[in-house]
Amino acid sequence: MKYVIFDFDGTLTQKGQNAWKNLWIKAGHPTNENSIYGILYKSFLDGELTYPEWCQLTCRYLKAKNISKYDVYEVGKNTLTLQDMNYTFKVLKESGYNLIILSGSVKQVIYACLNNSKNYFSKVFANEFVFDNNEILQEIIPTPFDFDGKRNLINQLLNNGVEKQNITFIGNSFNDEMVCETGVKTICINPETTNYDNKKIWSNVVQGNSLSLILPIIANKNSDKELCK
Ligand SMILES: [Mg+2]
Repeated sequence: MKYVIFDFDGTLTQKGQNAWKNLWIKAGHPTNENSIYGILYKSFLDGELTYPEWCQLTCRYLKAKNISKYDVYEVGKNTLTLQDMNYTFKVLKESGYNLIILSGSVKQVIYACLNNSKNYFSKVFANEFVFDNNEILQEIIPTPFDFDGKRNLINQLLNNGVEKQNITFIGNSFNDEMVCETGVKTICINPETTNYDNKKIWSNVVQGNSLSLILPIIANKNSDKELCK
């Protein structure tokens, strides 16, 4: 089995797109550094909140504004993807790759954004919104596969017998960096807040508007990559 594993925000979507931020904006909350949005995120990064606690508090604030299933759908619909996305998925599928999304974004946003292209993926790992009978947000089920979880999921594949050289991961940011500890090929696309020139973290870097930029890199045989840890 061969796998191409994608992050979502800023990897399949255009630079600067962030589902969480867009959801807070949609709910009518400010998102500057000193806003509750900014403070919660910083508290998580500083280790004062766990990831599930951060999801729970985020849920509380989005719920307070009655954010609905339709609002979440609209955020996804309005999220711009990279060019040639469908073409890239099609080429990869035809070349025998299994495609997976491994994201700290929100499943419902991903599905609305990708529309029919979601059918290319055998699995989508992300946070999940649960809505009540009135289609208002009720709960956020946190993904166990963000940050170190991204590494853990890829390690699970390796432990199940998938060979290292048959996995490529595509990401863009610091929450993807721990994937390098698995030794699989890592492509950084349109880097954001990450050590993208650190060869131990990212095997390759591409910048541009077309997702198809990754195709020649995936096709290249993996060289033995130095582990980052
Ligand atoms: Mg990202």
